[in-house]
Amino acid sequence: MAADLESEVQAIDKSLLECSAEEIAVKWLQANDLQKEVYQHLAYYVPKIYCRGPNPAPQREDMLAQHVLLGPMEWYLCGEDPAFGFPKLEQANKPSHLCGRVFKVGEPTYSCRDCAVDPTCVLCMECFLGSIHREHRYRMTTSGGGGFCDCGDTEAWKEGPYCQKHELNTSETAEEEDPLVHLPEDMVARAYNIFAITFKYAVDILTWEKENELPGLEMIEKSDTYYCMLFNDEVHTYEQVIYTLQKAVNCTQKEAIGFATTVDRDGRRSVRYGDFQYCDQAKSVIVRNTSRQTKPLKVQVMHSSIVAHQSFGLKLLTWLGSVIGYSDGLRRILCQVGLQEGPDGENSSLVDKLMLYDSKLWKGARNVYHQLFMSSLLMDLKYKKLFAIRFARNYERLQSDFMKDDHDREFSIADLSIQIFTVPSLARMLITEENLMTTIIKTFMDHLRHRDIQGRFQFERYTALQAFKFRRVQSLILDLKYVLISKPTEWSDDLRRKFLEGFDAFLELLKCMQGMDPITRQVGQHIEMEPEWEAAFTLQMKLTLVISMMQDWCALDEKVLIEAYKKCLTVLMQCHSGFTDGEQPIVLSMCGHSVETIRYCVSQEKVSIHLPVSRLLAGLHVLLSKTEVAYKFPELLPLSELSPPMLIEHPLRCLVLCAQVHAGMWRRNGFSLVNQIYYYHNVKCRREMFDKDIVMLQTGVSMMDPNHFLMIMLSRFELYQIFSTPDYGKRFSTENTNKDVVQQNNTLIEEMLYLIIMIVGERFSPGIGQVNTTDEIKREIIHQLSIRPMAHSELVKALPEDENRETGMESVIEEVACFKKPGLTGRGLYELKPECAKNFNLYFYHFSRAEQSKAEEAQRKLKRQNREDTALPPPALPPFCPLFASLVNILQSDVMLCIMGTILQWAVEHNGYAWSESMLQRVLHLIGMALQEEKQHLENLSEENVVTFTFTQKISKPGEAPSNSPSILAMLETLQNAPHLEVHKDMIRWILKTFNTIKKLRESSSSSPVAETEGNIMEESSRDKDKAERKRKAEIARLRREKIMAQMSEMQRHFINENKELFQQTLEELDTSASGVHENSCPVILDAKLTALGPEQTRVAEPRQVVMCILCQEEQEVKVDSRAMVLAAFIQRSTVLSKNRNKITPDPEKYDPLFMHPDLSCGTHTGSCGHIMHAHCWQRYFDAVQAKEQRRQQRLRVHTSYDVENGEFLCPLCECLSNTVIPLLPPPRVLFNRLDFSGQPNLTQWIKTLSQQVQAIQLLRNEHCASHSGHSEKMDQLQLPEGFRPDFKLKNPYSESIKEMLTTFGTATYKVGLKVHPNEEDPRVPIMCWGSCAYTIQTIERILADEDKPLFGHLPCRQDDCLMSLTRFAAAHWTVSSLSAVQGHFCTLLASLVPNEKNGNLPCILDIDMFHLLVSLVLSFPAIHCQDFSGVSLGTGDLHLFHLVTMAHIIQILLTSSTEENGMDQENTNSEEEVAVLTLYKFLCQCTGSALKEISSGWHLWRNLKAGIMPFLRCSALFFHYLNGVPAPSEIQVNGANQFEHLCSYLSLPNNLTCLFQENGEILNTLIESWCSNSEVKRYLEGKRHAISYARESNKLIDLPDDYSCLINQASNFSCPKSGGDKSRAPTLCLVCGTMLCSQSYCCQTELEGEDVGACTAHTYTCGSGVGIFLRVRECQVLFLAGKTKGCFYPPPYLDDYGETDQGLRRGNPLHLCKERFKKIQKLWQQHSITEEIGHAQEANQTLVGIDWQHL
Ligand SMILES: [Zn+2]
Ligand SMILES: [Zn+2]
Ligand SMILES: [Zn+2]
Ligand SMILES: [Zn+2]
Ligand SMILES: [Zn+2]
Ligand SMILES: [Zn+2]
Ligand SMILES: [Zn+2]
Repeated sequence: MAADLESEVQAIDKSLLECSAEEIAVKWLQANDLQKEVYQHLAYYVPKIYCRGPNPAPQREDMLAQHVLLGPMEWYLCGEDPAFGFPKLEQANKPSHLCGRVFKVGEPTYSCRDCAVDPTCVLCMECFLGSIHREHRYRMTTSGGGGFCDCGDTEAWKEGPYCQKHELNTSETAEEEDPLVHLPEDMVARAYNIFAITFKYAVDILTWEKENELPGLEMIEKSDTYYCMLFNDEVHTYEQVIYTLQKAVNCTQKEAIGFATTVDRDGRRSVRYGDFQYCDQAKSVIVRNTSRQTKPLKVQVMHSSIVAHQSFGLKLLTWLGSVIGYSDGLRRILCQVGLQEGPDGENSSLVDKLMLYDSKLWKGARNVYHQLFMSSLLMDLKYKKLFAIRFARNYERLQSDFMKDDHDREFSIADLSIQIFTVPSLARMLITEENLMTTIIKTFMDHLRHRDIQGRFQFERYTALQAFKFRRVQSLILDLKYVLISKPTEWSDDLRRKFLEGFDAFLELLKCMQGMDPITRQVGQHIEMEPEWEAAFTLQMKLTLVISMMQDWCALDEKVLIEAYKKCLTVLMQCHSGFTDGEQPIVLSMCGHSVETIRYCVSQEKVSIHLPVSRLLAGLHVLLSKTEVAYKFPELLPLSELSPPMLIEHPLRCLVLCAQVHAGMWRRNGFSLVNQIYYYHNVKCRREMFDKDIVMLQTGVSMMDPNHFLMIMLSRFELYQIFSTPDYGKRFSTENTNKDVVQQNNTLIEEMLYLIIMIVGERFSPGIGQVNTTDEIKREIIHQLSIRPMAHSELVKALPEDENRETGMESVIEEVACFKKPGLTGRGLYELKPECAKNFNLYFYHFSRAEQSKAEEAQRKLKRQNREDTALPPPALPPFCPLFASLVNILQSDVMLCIMGTILQWAVEHNGYAWSESMLQRVLHLIGMALQEEKQHLENLSEENVVTFTFTQKISKPGEAPSNSPSILAMLETLQNAPHLEVHKDMIRWILKTFNTIKKLRESSSSSPVAETEGNIMEESSRDKDKAERKRKAEIARLRREKIMAQMSEMQRHFINENKELFQQTLEELDTSASGVHENSCPVILDAKLTALGPEQTRVAEPRQVVMCILCQEEQEVKVDSRAMVLAAFIQRSTVLSKNRNKITPDPEKYDPLFMHPDLSCGTHTGSCGHIMHAHCWQRYFDAVQAKEQRRQQRLRVHTSYDVENGEFLCPLCECLSNTVIPLLPPPRVLFNRLDFSGQPNLTQWIKTLSQQVQAIQLLRNEHCASHSGHSEKMDQLQLPEGFRPDFKLKNPYSESIKEMLTTFGTATYKVGLKVHPNEEDPRVPIMCWGSCAYTIQTIERILADEDKPLFGHLPCRQDDCLMSLTRFAAAHWTVSSLSAVQGHFCTLLASLVPNEKNGNLPCILDIDMFHLLVSLVLSFPAIHCQDFSGVSLGTGDLHLFHLVTMAHIIQILLTSSTEENGMDQENTNSEEEVAVLTLYKFLCQCTGSALKEISSGWHLWRNLKAGIMPFLRCSALFFHYLNGVPAPSEIQVNGANQFEHLCSYLSLPNNLTCLFQENGEILNTLIESWCSNSEVKRYLEGKRHAISYARESNKLIDLPDDYSCLINQASNFSCPKSGGDKSRAPTLCLVCGTMLCSQSYCCQTELEGEDVGACTAHTYTCGSGVGIFLRVRECQVLFLAGKTKGCFYPPPYLDDYGETDQGLRRGNPLHLCKERFKKIQKLWQQHSITEEIGHAQEANQTLVGIDWQHL
């Protein structure tokens, strides 16, 4: 059936391909009714091309469509072959100076913070790099798709609108020139025809709703095939869709994933193809399955012809988009066609039709036509305007559609508003001509219909649907913001009228918010249900910027401002009349003043936090002052209508509410209220909430008698009684035994005083005080930095942003702060300049309570450090603007003085009253403010002015009868000596000093004489007291210091516990020179030559090793026969040294690891934290961990950071991830090294004997095998070498416990290294142990070499311990393995260098890593040697083995040497070494039959050889050092000259390595010949294969670009390798090999060991044997992965100019590579610490454990 279909399709295709585009075009040119002709053509061919089967075949469809359908159209359009026509058009075109590049998802975009008109103006990367803005302050983001480059749009940029490329095009083009003049007339006509027909066809078919007919087309094919079409929605999840599809259409999971992915991407996908019933059946299953909780998935059964025409319709739109790219003239024609009104009048143009049908179209179709709009209508200046008008006229309808649509806004036509409204000229035009402002606001109001009886918004009990709608409605506020974002420079009368009309609508909106969500204090019971509050605040928050912008607009035109002020006042009065009814008038009187007000208690009646109308009026009032309108046109303003008590009433209530909440009076109202208060003060809202309430109070006070104001305030705070009744306070505290109430009142008094401080002191907004905007920002920054030094991003968060997302910080920060660069961790910090500390105001109104106390502490500490007194007096303040000037009088008003006096009185008689120190502190602050004020008045006194501010005089006067209280001044003097007010003394002293200064000032200005002497004496005596006081304080300070020291050491202990790792490292750094307990500490004899191996090996007495168990704290000596001590260790497979990451991993069950290939493609690394335990203590600990974990998993079913089932645990001391333990052993060789006799054999003799022994062993083994099968004659023929006793069985010298640990660690190495099940009997166990030892040494040698550190003396002791234990373990392991197996390994290993007949087919010397070979040979040799009683020492064997392998390595190096003779300067020395190596090389040439490259320079060869062999020698030095315990000579513990010679000497090698060959010429020539005759060597020399050459270069992580946007760009060009050109959502870069991956996505999941894993995890298995380091490009985040369950995120190595990373790319500051941080990551990798790092991160942050890392 499938084959039939296939062939049928091919037949059709063939006939289609015979069509001639040219002929058809000619027919069309002659046609009378072109539309009919074209439609007939389409009706016939489209269904033949599209939708021929269940699955789309895009390539075939595209090819055929181009040939049969589009080809003729192009011929028709051009009137000739389009291959010539289009290039001609392109040439004739005067291209646009607009870039207009439409952004792909994830593409980097740039905005200039200095020049962009608003943040939505962006450039593509190419334009940005060619623009002036790259030198400016720019911001970088990744596009979410849609939107286009604004390069060339003069309205978008204040400066530099063109990049270099687009500037070229601007030369002569007049903006208004008609692009049609560049087109031939006949072409214009044809373009109209064909565009009109095709555009109409596409629009008709896409908006077609009937099922069995087509618009204007015949249904040619009657074969009724249908599709079951599944549509996208944003309600159902991927999983739901996949599950449902599997059920409904019987597909595999993979197919279902494919369908779901396409549906998600394109918006629809056919899931079944066949007859109607067949499809309908699937439809009903899907609907049934998905309709349970939500509305069902949208499915439709569609006729295949309709689907076919729709597919082609989309193709046509894309085609139109590309055709108009050739010529601006064609583009204009298309615009005209699109906007031409049809016969049905309004909204009948094709563009209108599409727009209005938008919400019914599927995602893919929307994308296509939106793109077409962007590349046509929005690129043509004339039509952009016409389109904007259409868009604005349909605005209401489009938004309503969007509200009902469930697609995200980015897929809605409504989202085009950003492209239109942000163009200043268009926005202005739409406001004046289309009344856009009003339209937007009205539309918004229409969608928020839920109101209470007073007509206010009500969000209580919002349903999910309403909430969803509410979220959508918010985008309208965004539109309003766009419209307002660019402010007019000129006002026409029209603009004024329309703006004010919009302002009216806006006031209506605010009116609905004024007083919304009212609350009443809950007494008795706690509220039952937290009331809804978030919606109202969301609305407020979103509107904040719009409210500010409205004010900005008003500030620009005096007429507008005056009108707006009037309108706002009217609306406010309307609001008030609504909710002040029924409140009784009362009269308050105090200190001879009285005022009428109403009875109202915040604690008993309704109160609301939402007062946007009041606050807008407050804002406008400040503008009256700022713009000086208040002084210029007072007669035009309704100032006389203002009723100050009415203005302040509601803001005051709101502030009292905050105070009462703070005093704990609203506890029963729950968290919603606490949250509201929080947001009221929060930086996101405060500008149009809290700040404006303060302004309104300031406005009120400045217009009324301050005494009246204060009485009303006392009354609202419910404190009036306390202060108006003499002695009430005393009565109150004695009568009231309820401590809570006393506490409550105290807090309220404190809060009220704080409020007065704010009213008087907050004058840093332009218009209130005589300041400018930068003063305001500076002050904010100063106060933030007074708390502590802060990073740039922290400061940004603490400052309010304007509509352009700017805080204005950069322009002033340098003046008030110094920048400190970050180190390897942490971030750069700004520190307050010392001279700015004097501006610090303890009662700064934007401090939270916590910030205030932190700032106070920090500032006092600073003063103490500078040896100043610790008073924090109020700073000098700027003067008020005239409109607010009178409000300072509040400080010297009678009621204020009465309040101050009363509180001071309480403090003086401190026992009788309930008062608090905070209260006093605030009163002192207020007095300080008053004094500062008076001082400034006096200092700025001009001739004609009289100082009316006479605070000093007033506080000097004692109270009048009847109370006869002492003066405020007198009370201060009393308090100065009060012992209970220690903390405030400095402040009181400051006040008295300032008081005296003012007196002097007054005298000099000769105003009024005051008794001076008194004050002087007072000051004198106070100075004496001062001294005594200081001494006493010093003593107190000393005692306190001691106490602190004691506390510190306690804390330090805690700290160590909490930061073990950190501490560990520091200790290690200190320790490296004098390593731990068990290192050789015997004095190194400097003169003696130290030799690490061989018969000449330096004898050192191994000191007793006593170590302590971290678990039981018991000490024990490390001995052969005692209980085992172990080190926690972590074994992992590693590819860090790999030179071949593409190697296919062999089947672990069959793999023979005996020979390591020199590409080191996969090794086994062992690391340790160096912590020692008893083996049995560890066993017990591990069993406990295991048991606990099992219980936990049963209970919670969560992962931990370690996998107990795989033997993982955390080191009990440092929590380092471990998976086994290494036993600690005494030097193992001593046990088997028998005394050496004189006369040791030379290499040749030794090899001969050894070969005999090997032969004997092999014979015996064969014999052994044979004996089983019945033959046993050869036994007698065997001639054993002298002293060789193969039947000898060695007694294992180790204790049972050590033997057990040898097996444990050996098995663990085997299991992890080969990824197999543990099997301690497997003969490969010892091989893996030797391999791990060799590999670990190689990695450490590489790290040291890369860091240019000497070989010895710089290893941290944990590595030193680890290497020693590992080496000794590997050397001892053979004692627990099968002797014959180890002997067998040795024989095979040896045979690779010394061939014998038995071992054929071994790797050639090019394919053996010589260091691995050396370690394996040396460590397996004892297995043979232990049976050798001939008197040859083990050391002799070691030496000969080492020499043999070294020589093989030399040959290996020479064979693979890539020495180039030319180029390099060479010295003409012809030293001994050079001559010798040249001779050797010549011999090699002979042996290889002259296949070797000819080299005549001994100098080059020797240099090359030395460099090539160095890593091997260094590794060998480490190996023998740890094996034999000979200390390293001091020369190789430092970097210095002659390292090579020192190494050779330590390793018992001649400096001239080639001497080895000469000394052993006899046997070596034979060996070399045999090595060279290997066929693989021949193939290599013939260039038929590759081989590793030496020295191997160290592996590094990939190079990263300096500029992060390069990576973003690279990632945006990357498409998912599996889903055909789709952009990947989470492109992720492997930092090890540089591969880009499509992470965290269904499309690229693969199966690994039976589980679905994401692309990253899959990649780690090939690239890093389970471990991976990635950079998530979109997130700017490093990802570490290990295995399937472990992972963590790590800070990226990219920093902005402020020394901060930007994880998630939220801030968008330019990012640059920090090389040091990248090196740090690289080091983690090279040290194999990634897994450990993940472990620590997961332990520190448990949420990381829950992430499904394997899906990344
Ligand atoms: Zn561009
Ligand atoms: Zn450009
Ligand atoms: Zn710029
Ligand atoms: Zn112990
Ligand atoms: Zn540890
Ligand atoms: Zn993918
Ligand atoms: Zn990789």
